[in-house]
Amino acid sequence: MDMNTIAAIATAPGEAGIGIVRISGKRAVEIGDKIFKGKRISKLSDSKQRYLNYGYIVDPKSGEKIDEVLIVYMKEPYTYTTEDIVEINCHGGIISVRRILEIVLENGATMAEAGEFTKRAFLNGRIDLSQAEAVIDLISAKTDISFNVSLNQLEGSLSKEISVLRNKVLEMLAHIQASIDFPEHDEEYATYQQLKENGEYILLKIQQLLDTVYAGKILREGLKTVILGKPNVGKSSLLNRVLRENRSIVTDIPGTTRDIIEEYVNIKGIPLKIVDTAGIRETDDIIERIGVDRAKALIDKSDLIIAVFDASSNLTKEDMEIIKLASYKKSIVLLNKTDLNNKICSQDIKKHLPDTKIINTSMITGTGIEILENTLKDMFFTGEIKIKEDVIVNNVRHRDQLLKAKENIEDALSAVISELSYDLIEVDLKNCWENLGQITGETIGEDLIDKIFQDFCIGK
Ligand code: GDP
Repeated sequence: MDMNTIAAIATAPGEAGIGIVRISGKRAVEIGDKIFKGKRISKLSDSKQRYLNYGYIVDPKSGEKIDEVLIVYMKEPYTYTTEDIVEINCHGGIISVRRILEIVLENGATMAEAGEFTKRAFLNGRIDLSQAEAVIDLISAKTDISFNVSLNQLEGSLSKEISVLRNKVLEMLAHIQASIDFPEHDEEYATYQQLKENGEYILLKIQQLLDTVYAGKILREGLKTVILGKPNVGKSSLLNRVLRENRSIVTDIPGTTRDIIEEYVNIKGIPLKIVDTAGIRETDDIIERIGVDRAKALIDKSDLIIAVFDASSNLTKEDMEIIKLASYKKSIVLLNKTDLNNKICSQDIKKHLPDTKIINTSMITGTGIEILENTLKDMFFTGEIKIKEDVIVNNVRHRDQLLKAKENIEDALSAVISELSYDLIEVDLKNCWENLGQITGETIGEDLIDKIFQDFCIGK
C-alpha cells in the first residue's frame, strides 16, 4: 500500500525525562538524513538498523541546532507499522518535541492522525482489528487484570477464537454448497445432522464468549460503586482504609455543577470505581446532599451499593431509608464499629435484606476488610478468572457483533432442525460469518475503521 510518511509526538505532553517523535513511512530515513547530524555518523542512513545514534537535530534551512538526541531507525517490514520507522528521543517537555516535529513536517512528513500508526499496522496486515483495539485498551487499562486481558487480546487470543469459529461456519457453508451443487448425492440426513452438530458447537462457543462480557465490562470500566450510609457511620474511614491498602487512580470528570471525582481502587484485581466520593468526603452524606431522588438515580446507574451502618447504635429512620435504597441493587452491607458495644446484629438487617451479604467490620481495627474484598471478588467473578488462559470480551463493539452472530447461528440452527431449504440456511450462515469477521476487521467498512481509530491518541 502506498501511503504518505507520517509523524507525531509519541510521548505524553508535559515535563518529562525524554520525549519521542516518531516517523513512519517510505521517506522516514530520508527525513532523518536531512535533519540529523551524528557524532559518529554523518547521516542516519549510514547507521546500523535498530541502533541508537547520538547527535543533534539541526534545522537544515538555518543550520540551527534544535536539540541533543538519540535517534534510531527500524527498517520495514518488522516494525510497529510494518513501514520504515525513525524515532527521535529528545529532551522531554513541550518545546523540544514540538520543534522537532515541526522540522520533520517541514521536511516531508505529514502529521499523523489519531491512531494512525496502529491503523497502518492493521491496514498493512500485521495485526487484525481486535488486536488494534487492544492497543487502546492497554493504554487506558486501570488495573493489572484489565491490562493483562488486553495484552492477551493484542497477542491474538480473541482473533484465534474468532478464526476457529469462522472456519467452522465456512465448513458448514461448504457442506451446503456441495449439497446445492450436487443434489443427486442424496446424503441429506447426514448433512442436516452434521450441520446441526457444527451449528450447536458454534452457538456454544459464541455463548461462552458472551458470558465473559460482564466481567469484561467491569474490568474495562470499573465496578461502579456507591457507598451509602448516614453521617458518622464510617464511610470515609472505609474509603480511606481501602485506598490506603490499594492503589487508586483519581480522575476528575467535569460535571455541570461541580467536578465529580471518580476514584478507581484496585481490589483483588477488580477496578472499583467509587462514584461521587467527593460528596462523601465533603458533606458526609450523599442522600442529605443530593436528595433521595438523585441518590436513587445514582444508584440506578451503579453496579454495586455498599451500605454502611453503625452497629453500636440502634437503626434509625435514615438507616431504614438506606436499607430501602440498598434493596434496589446488588449490595453489600457493612455493620461497622463492631469494636464497640453492639446494639444491632446482622439479623436486624437480614430481616429487610434477606439476600444481601452482611459483614461485621471495624474501620479502626480493620476487621472484615479482607472479607469485604473477597466478597466483592466472588460476587462479580464466579470462579477464578484465569486471565492468562481465558479470552475475555471487554469491548462493546465485539459484544454487539457476537450477539448478531449468535442470532444468525440460532436462525440457521432452527432452519436446520426444521430441515428447511439449504438456501435459507446459507443466508443465516453467511451473515454469521460476516458478523464474526467484523470483530477481526476482515469484513468491515472503511468508515467504521476510521471511527474506531478516532478513539486513539495521536502518536499511537
Ligand atoms: P462518615 O461520616 O460515614 O464518613 O464517617 P467517618 O468515617 O467520618 O467516621 C465517623 C467517626 O467514627 C470517626 O470519628 C471515625 O474515627 C469513627 N469510626 C469509623 N469507623 C469506626 C469503627 O469501626 N469503630 C469505631 N470505634 N469508630 C469508627
